[in-house]
Amino acid sequence: MLAYTYTAPGKFELCEKPKPVLLDDRDAIVKVTLASICTSDLHIKHGSVPRAVPGITVGHEMVGIVEQVGAAVTTVRPGDRVTVNVETFCGECFFCQNGWVNNCTDPDGGWALGCRIDGGQAEYVRVPHADQGLDKIPDGVTDRQALFVGDLLATGYWAAQISEIKPQDTVLILGAGPTGLCTLQCVLLKHPKRIIVCDPDVQRLDFVRRHYPDVLTVSTENLAEFVRANSDHGGADTVLEVAGSATSFRMAWESARPNAIVTVVALYDQPQILPLPDMYGKNLTFKTGGVDGCNCAETLRLIKQGKIDTTPLITHTFPLREIEAAYALFENRQDGVIKVAIEC
Ligand SMILES: [Zn+2]
Ligand SMILES: [Zn+2]
Repeated sequence: MLAYTYTAPGKFELCEKPKPVLLDDRDAIVKVTLASICTSDLHIKHGSVPRAVPGITVGHEMVGIVEQVGAAVTTVRPGDRVTVNVETFCGECFFCQNGWVNNCTDPDGGWALGCRIDGGQAEYVRVPHADQGLDKIPDGVTDRQALFVGDLLATGYWAAQISEIKPQDTVLILGAGPTGLCTLQCVLLKHPKRIIVCDPDVQRLDFVRRHYPDVLTVSTENLAEFVRANSDHGGADTVLEVAGSATSFRMAWESARPNAIVTVVALYDQPQILPLPDMYGKNLTFKTGGVDGCNCAETLRLIKQGKIDTTPLITHTFPLREIEAAYALFENRQDGVIKVAIEC
């Protein structure tokens, strides 16, 4: 089968590989129908994910059809259409029992697919702990509607959930890239009084205005003044930092009102400074981390009900054999690309 492979630092290649087989009773083999390219794939390519293993098939956001299951798998059967979770988790350890699946202590736990073990930019993928890692796609929901459930949308849902958003809140989202847009959709479900989206890219802000006319948008230069003018207590009640730029962490806590919650979803290239003397008395609560991606069944329900629709994010589609061109487009942010779907 064809599999897009991390062959050496800085290099991905489309290779011919054997079809994966079940290695454990809890595994499933999934025939991938649609996959996507994530910024984290680029991080692997550029060497900023040291735990990524050369030789692995990349890709950790995909949907497909169950082909085969191990004897211990109970929740899915061959023929089921499924989303694949970016995180592998056992469902049994202390962290899984608390819903903190990102910190699962199983040897396979955490981000394994497309990083430490073969992922899904391929014709088939082996999914360990399939009872936890696969969710059935409801009838009437298409592959394109479900594509981001396991990673991007899981992140947006988790971010909105931990931010304790209340109806009277002004919520500021920093970043209108793919994760920012998924976060926005999940914040909208909480119905806060106001939502402000900030991004330096005018095209991205334009996309937000076109699709979500009730959401306020602002460029990074005017942020401080705009937030003061469009909030009730001198700053945002809740800030979700999804941008991860050199200056966005500072923008996040500066834009927050006293006693606000600041949720940091972004993954930074560099350490960030937390200038406690400057924020003394502001009494902020910071929430940080990586997605606990265990609400996929719920997001699939919301998609089916028409409350979440991430299909406008898919701006381009390529067949697997042209994945090289898809990466070039995504990496160089050409032609207004937001997300690329790969037909496997
Ligand atoms: Zn990802
Ligand atoms: Zn676990």
